[in-house]
This record gives sequence, structure tokens and C-alpha cells, in this order.
Amino acid sequence: MSCDPVWAEGCRLAEQRLTPSEYKAWIDCLTPRVIRSDVAVIDVPTNPMKEWIADRYSALLEQCLSQASGRAMAVRFAVPDPGNGTEPIPGEPPPSSADTPLDGLRLQLVAEQGSIDPRFRFDNFVVGACNQFAHAAAFAVGNRHVRGYNPFFIYGNVGLGKTHLLNAVGNFVLSRKPTARVRYVTSEAFTNELIGAIRSDRHEEFRAMYRSVDLLLIDDIQLIAKLERTQEEFFYTFNSLYQAQRQIVVTSDRFPKDIPELDDRLRSRFEWGLIADMQAPDLETRVAILTRKSESESLALPDEATLFLATHIRSNIRELEGSLNRVCAYASLTTQPITIELIRKVLRETLRDPDTPITLDDIQKTVAKAFDVRVSDLRSNRKLRTLTVPRQVAMYLCRRLTSSSFPHIGDQFGKDHSTVIHAVRRIERQLEDDADFRARIERIVSELEEAR
Ligand code: ADP
Ligand code: MG
Repeated sequence: MSCDPVWAEGCRLAEQRLTPSEYKAWIDCLTPRVIRSDVAVIDVPTNPMKEWIADRYSALLEQCLSQASGRAMAVRFAVPDPGNGTEPIPGEPPPSSADTPLDGLRLQLVAEQGSIDPRFRFDNFVVGACNQFAHAAAFAVGNRHVRGYNPFFIYGNVGLGKTHLLNAVGNFVLSRKPTARVRYVTSEAFTNELIGAIRSDRHEEFRAMYRSVDLLLIDDIQLIAKLERTQEEFFYTFNSLYQAQRQIVVTSDRFPKDIPELDDRLRSRFEWGLIADMQAPDLETRVAILTRKSESESLALPDEATLFLATHIRSNIRELEGSLNRVCAYASLTTQPITIELIRKVLRETLRDPDTPITLDDIQKTVAKAFDVRVSDLRSNRKLRTLTVPRQVAMYLCRRLTSSSFPHIGDQFGKDHSTVIHAVRRIERQLEDDADFRARIERIVSELEEAR
């Protein structure tokens, strides 16, 4: 039946009159069941979809099919019976949609806007190379500068700022238009609300409420995969809002294609709009986030401590903030200043991450301790042999254990790069010739590696 020439031609005509995404969403999924000279019976996948399509597209399809067949044709829609596909051919127009927003619901909706977290805004979101694109797109969506960013799909690993950005869109829209109907919900809350609504026989209210929003923000959409009923409901909500040109923003911990058991219809809809990913923050962004946070909370965080935290906690902004909070809480309860030693003590477990890099600072301290000298001696110009050897060892280890350049290492010792190159060569030679010296240096290396 799908290759019926009248149907094929009718679809071709409809395609010319709709946008590609509209055609793909609503007409492409139809299958003709019966095409007679005066009537076409068309299968629609589900009941709610039938209502939607009948409401909006029956006139268009009647015109296109009439033009294709050269005779006046009526269109009827049917939903195949999953059992035997023998649902009687419908003659009745579909029941009217229950999507009209109710005043009571509006009130409820406004009250629930509290679920947007007012702490997460654009003005306290630090932008770096890792999140620049997602931020710019979110901002454009919030400004309604753009069409075609619908849905806007943000994905990235945990703790990289997806929830922050999602709320920022909502807060921004509300700040400009406080009466906007903005709904932020996690996909778990969406599921629970749906279950509650079905149980208490308020399913229609649930639908009407969701379908009346101006901006729908759904967090962690990957969690609705596997939940068939929730996905179906979300699918209709999505379609309804999309069709009414209301903005939808979702976040996920992975790309739509990589969410297992996600309904293919949802997957393809997520790919219609704009997809932006968020990457792990680079060092500069991590420093900026810590600085911003310590300033906004008036925390006494010395630069050295900021850099230490930013260097050691790399993959996740939530963890970075959590570590900062723990360190500050400990320092304030014990009335101690925040030093690197204190951070090491408080974050012992966190810093044991094998990926955590060794810093030049760590090397200077460990070498100073091993040779029983002071860090300031390593950085000084004093030429005593008891100081030049540890100084050269420290420079050699900085080169071997970090990715720092010669000039950068030189800076840490108040020397130029040629001094560092010379030191590294000297120590390499001595390591070749002197087994005891080699053993001593390897002990320092192990100590540094264990302390990470
Ligand atoms: P996700 O939803 O991706 O798991 P969140 O949005 O919950 O991550 O972010 C975790 C924490 O890190 C939040 O407190 C958030 O405010 C903060 N955060 C994330 N990215 C940024 C950023 N770019 N600037 C400032 N704070 C950020
Ligand atoms: Mg989140």
C-alpha cells in the first residue's frame, strides 16, 4: 500500500508545502491503509498523534490527495490495533484536544517555577574553551535570537556545568519576562509526576500543563531511556511544544546516538536541533572558576592554593568546587590559613588520583626535604656544593616528571633556561656513572609519585 501512486504523489505535494522537519515529523510516519476513489484511510502510529495530525494536517492532506487523484478526496485517520490491525475504519472526527491551559494549572505552574535554581545564572558561569560553544548557544536560545536551535541538546560528562547552563537559560528568560511559563524538571521528576498524574486520574491536567509552557528545560534526559511510557509521553509533549514553536532544552550525559534504549523517534528529534557538548575544563578555566567562587564567597584563597587545586583537580567542576568547600570549611573551623599543606591534608583521598600531575612546587619541596635544605635555598643563587647538587636534581626532576619547558622551570628557580639545560645534562651524566646517586634519586621519584 505504501507505494500507492496517489499516496506517493499526495506526499510529494505535501512535502512542497511543509518545512522538511515538519514533513518528516508528521507526514513521513503515516501509512495509507486504504485508498479509495473518494476516501483515504491513513494509519497513524498512536492515538494522541492521531488527534494532533487530524487537527493540523487533514485539510492539507485532503487537498494534496485530491490534486494527486484528480477527484475530491476525504481523509480519515486510524490507529492500527496492535493485536490484529483490524480497528474499524473511523468516520468520526477526532475528539477535541485537551491541551487548553487552565487557569488553575497556570497558577500551579508559576508556583513550580521555584524548581529553577536561582543560583545558576549566565553571570556566574565561567566561559572557557571547554564550554564556549554550549554557552554561546544557550545564551542565544535564552535571547530567542535564533530559530533552528530547537531542541537545544547539551551533553557532557557529569559535573561539567550542564545543569548550571540549563538553569541559566531559564533564569535569563524569567529575568526578562517574569510572566514567561518556564518549566525546569529533571527527567526523574517528569516520570514521577507522570506516574502520579496517571494514578490520580489527572493525566489530562499533566498534559495540559506541560503543553502550555513557553520554555521546557529537561535535565538528564538519558534517564528516561528504558522507560517506555515516560518516553511516549515526553514524545507527545515534545511534539506539541515543537509544533507551537516553544523552546525545548535538554541535557544528557551523552550524545543522543549513544543513549541506549532511547526511543528512535526521540533520538531523531534530538538531532533536529542544535547539539552542543561540554568538555572538561582546561587549567585556565579551573583557575577562573576557583577565583570567581572564592571572590563571591569572600574566601581567603591565596593564589598558590588556587593554582594547586586547579592543577590537581582536573576533570570535574563539581569536584573542584567540592574540594574548595572542604578546604575552606576545614581552614575556618580550625582557624588556620589555607596553605598547600592544609589542602594536601584535607584532600588526601581526592589527590591520590593517579592522573594528578606532579607540580614543580612538589618537586622543589620533596627534593629540599631529601637533601635537608630549604626551598628558598634551591631558588637562591648561592653556589655552595651542598646547594647546587639538590638544585640541579630538582631541575632535572622538573624536566623529567612534568611537561614544563626549560624557560618555565628556570622561572621557578629564578634562573634562565640555559642553566636548566646544563643542570639536566649534568645530572643525567652522574646518574649513568653513580649507582648510589641513582638509587637516591629514584627514592625521591617514588616519594613524589606516592604523594600525588
Ligand atoms: P552537570 O549538570 O554537568 O553534572 P552542574 O551544572 O551541576 O554539572 O555543575 C556542577 C557544579 O559546577 C555546579 O555548582 C556549577 O555551578 C559549577 N559549574 C560548572 N560549570 C561552571 C562554570 N563554567 N562556571 C561556574 N561554575 C560552574
Ligand atoms: Mg546535572
